[in-house]
Amino acid sequence: MTATASLAAPDTAASAAGSAERLPDPADLISFDTLLTDEEVALRDRVRAFVTAEIKPNIARWYEEARFPLEIVPEMASLGLLGMHLHGYGCAGRSAVEYGLAGAELEAGDSGLRTFVSVQGSLAMSAIHKHGSEEQKHEWLPQMAAGEAIGCFGLTEPTAGSDPGSMTTYARRDGTGPTVDWVLSGKKRWIGLANVAKVAVIWAMTDDGVRGFVVPTATPGYTATPIEPKLSMRASIQCEIELDEVRLPHDAVLPNAGGLKGPFSCLNEARYGIIWGSMGAARDAFEDALAYSKERLQFGRPLAGYQLTQAKLVDMALEINKGFLLALHLGRLKDAGKLQHHQISVGKLNNCREAIEIAREARTILGGNGITLEHSPLRHANNLESVRTYEGTDEVHTLILGQKLTGEAAFR
Ligand SMILES: Cc1cc2nc3c(=O)[nH]c(=O)nc-3n(C[C@H](O)[C@H](O)[C@H](O)COP(=O)(O)OP(=O)(O)OC[C@H]3O[C@@H](n4cnc5c(N)ncnc54)[C@H](O)[C@@H]3O)c2cc1C
Repeated sequence: MTATASLAAPDTAASAAGSAERLPDPADLISFDTLLTDEEVALRDRVRAFVTAEIKPNIARWYEEARFPLEIVPEMASLGLLGMHLHGYGCAGRSAVEYGLAGAELEAGDSGLRTFVSVQGSLAMSAIHKHGSEEQKHEWLPQMAAGEAIGCFGLTEPTAGSDPGSMTTYARRDGTGPTVDWVLSGKKRWIGLANVAKVAVIWAMTDDGVRGFVVPTATPGYTATPIEPKLSMRASIQCEIELDEVRLPHDAVLPNAGGLKGPFSCLNEARYGIIWGSMGAARDAFEDALAYSKERLQFGRPLAGYQLTQAKLVDMALEINKGFLLALHLGRLKDAGKLQHHQISVGKLNNCREAIEIAREARTILGGNGITLEHSPLRHANNLESVRTYEGTDEVHTLILGQKLTGEAAFR
């Protein structure tokens, strides 16, 4: 592993700016960096250098082996990427824009790696950070930020996806009074990292509506089985969880989350990260196709010299530039505490939709070679099928925006 300085302390990252190698960004037509502070550029470049050194040379193998590289978790932790935007409890306390910039770089490596950071930081840690007791925060957040404990976030069920309110996982109290145990039963599906997690945040129905529970995965009755084989997110793990009468102490419940607002507030964090991440994947697919088009000769000239190829590259670059501008605008709103719920849907829907189109178009420039793992676009396109599905599908975000525009809810 390459030695990389922590991003945890802004001062460290700023002073390291000079030493980070500036890697080219051929998709940038608008001098995007002029919109960033020196500190943001420095942080972005350090994550880009990490991805270039540690992820890009290995990702095809991990993807082929369908393996999440647990061995890079310590380095991600030392970079301050776990719970990066959370404050206190050993977390890096970075801004939303910085978190987004890092997510874009990670997803330029692979969506599976950005997904890990998202599940750990935006979902599991953020659930405990937002809704947990001081005891829960002190117990879990420092070890999760340090990469010593992996967390997962169990909301989706085999029969409850876009409509999590229909969940059937149930938490009952074993008796009466404030200190009786909780007993959880049910199934969760598609839960990232659930078989390697030390702690699971599980959302369950109770007599008082949906509540969140902090479940150490060593608790008897908890079983996580990876869902295999997958055609998308192969360098990442998703599991089915079975909860068979999992007995928890009375203080396992997240005290400050009641109803679906609890999980939704965490999903919004993860959706925000996707706005940036999806564009990172698109940018990497574009760069691969651009480089190939300059070298590949057909009919006696490089593919890049043909107008049809240039039109494809230009259309891709326009959407990448617009996508990053949108991400930055929403990030600045988030940092100012002004980001509205529907605005996250604008970014998630638009950037996932454009990213998948860009990755597919990039694949066409690669011709037959584009279907191999030697090139990134089809891998990114396959991953982006998951990204457009989780954290609210295209249809769900369309319905959110439709309701915003018309005042009519069309969900059911
Ligand atoms: C790689 C991956 C990782 C994931 N990680 C996690 C995780 O860590 N934790 C977690 O809890 N979940 C996770 N999920 C689950 C994810 O959030 C769900 O897959 C998603 O919410 C969609 O649910 P579903 O798959 O059950 O599809 P469904 O909800 O069954 O939807 C199927 C189709 O019907 C459409 N549809 C649904 N309702 C409507 C409607 N009202 N109008 C029109 N169309 C509609 C959908 O848009 C979709 O196109 C993950 C999923 C994947 C693929």
